[in-house]
Amino acid sequence: MSLKEINEKHTPMMQQYLRIKADYPDILLFYRMGDFYELFFDDAHKAANLLDITLTARGQSAGEPIPMAGVPYHAVDNYLARLVKLGKSIAICEQTGDPATSKGPVERKVVRIVTPGTLTDEALLEERQDNLLAAIFADADSTGIATLDMASGRFRLQQVSGIEALLGELERLQPAELLLSEDQPEQDWQTPLNCLKRQPPWRFDPDSANRLLCEQFQTRDLRGFGCDDAPLAVRAAGCLLHYVQETQHDVLPHICDLRVEQREDSIILDAASRRNLELEYSLSDQPQHTLAGILDHCATPMGSRLLRRWIHRPLRKHRILRQRQQVIACLYDQHRFETLQPLLRQVGDIERILTRIALKSARPRDLSRLCTALGLLPEIHKLPAKPGDRLAELLQQISEFPQVYTLLQNALIETPPLLIRDGGVIAPGYDEELDELRSLQANADQFLSELEERERQRSGVNSLKVGYNRVHGYYIEVSRLHSENLPENYQRRQTLKAAERYITPELKALEDRVLSANERALAREKQLYEQLLNTLHDDLTELQASARALAELDVLNTLAERAQSLQLNPPTLDETPGLEIQCGRHPVIERAQSEPFTPNDIHLHDNQRMLVITGPNMGGKSTYMRQTALIVLMAHIGSYVPADSARIGPIDRIFTRIGASDDLAGGRSTFMVEMTETANILHNATAQSLVLMDEIGRGTSTFDGLSLAWACAQALVQEIHAWTLFATHYFELTRLPDEQPGCANVHLDAVEHDHGIVFMHKVLPGPASKSYGLQVAALAGVPQSVIRQAKDKLTQLETSACPVQNKIQSKPAAAENRSSMLADMLKKISPDDLSPREALALLYQLKKQLEDHTLQETPE
Ligand code: ADP
Repeated sequence: MSLKEINEKHTPMMQQYLRIKADYPDILLFYRMGDFYELFFDDAHKAANLLDITLTARGQSAGEPIPMAGVPYHAVDNYLARLVKLGKSIAICEQTGDPATSKGPVERKVVRIVTPGTLTDEALLEERQDNLLAAIFADADSTGIATLDMASGRFRLQQVSGIEALLGELERLQPAELLLSEDQPEQDWQTPLNCLKRQPPWRFDPDSANRLLCEQFQTRDLRGFGCDDAPLAVRAAGCLLHYVQETQHDVLPHICDLRVEQREDSIILDAASRRNLELEYSLSDQPQHTLAGILDHCATPMGSRLLRRWIHRPLRKHRILRQRQQVIACLYDQHRFETLQPLLRQVGDIERILTRIALKSARPRDLSRLCTALGLLPEIHKLPAKPGDRLAELLQQISEFPQVYTLLQNALIETPPLLIRDGGVIAPGYDEELDELRSLQANADQFLSELEERERQRSGVNSLKVGYNRVHGYYIEVSRLHSENLPENYQRRQTLKAAERYITPELKALEDRVLSANERALAREKQLYEQLLNTLHDDLTELQASARALAELDVLNTLAERAQSLQLNPPTLDETPGLEIQCGRHPVIERAQSEPFTPNDIHLHDNQRMLVITGPNMGGKSTYMRQTALIVLMAHIGSYVPADSARIGPIDRIFTRIGASDDLAGGRSTFMVEMTETANILHNATAQSLVLMDEIGRGTSTFDGLSLAWACAQALVQEIHAWTLFATHYFELTRLPDEQPGCANVHLDAVEHDHGIVFMHKVLPGPASKSYGLQVAALAGVPQSVIRQAKDKLTQLETSACPVQNKIQSKPAAAENRSSMLADMLKKISPDDLSPREALALLYQLKKQLEDHTLQETPE
């Protein structure tokens, strides 16, 4: 609609609304009307749907009713929180003019834009989770990723190659909002689509990105940040910063640090492995049954967020990990963590408070919490630490701020109100002018009762009262009976049923003084509050550094407490290849179940790089494999581990191919998911990788399942030499160790009794003797009649040499054909001139052929 059309058809208020809305066509506009934010037209329809609020109409414009939905301003945070969770952005349009002096609609302006990735309000953020804005920019080979945690100012860049790496990182970062150029092709991002925000391509321009970043960090170039190796990430960062500046309408002094992260510094986990290991989100949606769930007992929200970042990015630098272990040891010693935890609990979330101070959106209680935290620092500094160790370093980074502390203590009352708007925040004695204005207010009561007494005597009316109401101000009230013969200077202000109200010049003068004192006191308080925020700015960088160190101290303190509560022990990290764990346990399952947990050992070394794990379903195979991965991962965040002892050599990646689940949303079958994950492992695993393969091949027929499993196992042990745990239900695979050096069989013990089965959960050497499938089925409640039939069938089948052959014999016409094909296939897997990867490719072809045959030969 043109401006002219708008002006002709709409009321002045609607004209104003439409003019503002034209600047924000794609986001919801919350338009302030008195005590409400209102949404109109399409926005009203959307909001009514998303928030389940009533859709009504507000008058008419251009002859049509205007659809309208509204939310009360005092509850707006609640509605905003729901909208940002749904990935929506909201422009907040406030009344900025003075209604008393405005002709036509009062002036309004969009004062901020709330977007899911740029939140800093306490009410809109998850306390214990980072909330990231991310931007990515890709060329043919690599992708640059920039992320900003607006609520802490943490700005990170990295560059990765290949789609798997990108997906792994996105799974780690879980951005709330992801910026992507309009001209980048659609990909299978696996991020909720509502978090994708397309941006014009020019925002990724390298020169303007450089300029913008240099301006933000006040540097001449970006070399000091190590950005030379990450040019694509710098372009992504340029777009990101542009977006933040545009939506925040303000400078961002808390973003003062930029770091380039190297993916190789951490143990790399692909997206599927992150999910499979249930680091922060469990596959069954029970957050307490995750690694983060059992480790995160942090005293401060900023500690929780840091711990989660560590869990998602286990470090490979043994030096740093050993330092962390030292701090844990010191805090564990004599239960020091018990002293520190309550102190840290009172420190609270100063990281986010400091951001709000930087953005000048801090509320009075933010400042009083900061004050409490600062008051505790001298106590925290008393922790004994050896000079030169990490604990001493952390304590050194936590400065004491005696001046800031005294300032805040003097400036604020003990429990200030939520908002500065109504005053009552600044303490008495802090500012002379404010005290004077306040004493005028307080003394008014005294003046009034004196005045009342004088007027009673002057008028001779004993029931005369002095009162106040908001509309008429101060008055002298006299009952109708006595309203004759009052002193001359009584002017009538208001007539009630039984009384008359008057004002006198003396009372009017008092009123002027008191009311203006009120207003002036409030204005003075706001001014003092601003000054306070500005003063705090001077120490912002140092305060931020202290907050970071306090968060780390909190995490290490928690890990010390966890070490005791969960009976964890320090692992040894060294450069000798291999993995030796004595009495390892699964930290999550151990806590989640009431039965005692059976610890198990694991030994992987140069002569034993792969374990083929067999045993009954429910026997504990997956648990054994996952606990190994979790122990390795915990060791690489610096934590103690659930084992009597553990020695861990260099590990570069952890891969898991666990649990077959259909990716229905992505349109991929179980088998396809399984093969994609397997292909990723075979392409990327190295001799330093830990690979968990659970039941690979289950998603397809016995033939190709077995063959694929065999070929994969062989590739992993023979060609890649990865540390591999290979759980399988294919008994044929237990023959692999006979042929392959570096490969051994282990099994999960189970004992049969009275037609039932007891799982011992103990890992023993050698292959399992049988699979106990029927016993497990009976345990699961499959009816006895079916179990009996299955037993008969099993006996029948067991008379033949192998189930595969049996299947072939049941269809004589196809048998010859297939068995020769199988023989061919198995022959081709092992010859010296064929690498296992080639064998795998060959098997894919054979699978296809087998499927074709099956189709031809099974007329039903
Ligand atoms: P599998 O992979 O062999 O089918 P799981 O590893 O899924 O078996 O284990 C099945 C269940 O057995 C687990 O959920 C857990 O309750 C229990 N379990 C597994 N390992 C142990 C153990 N070492 N000690 C005690 N209980 C265990």
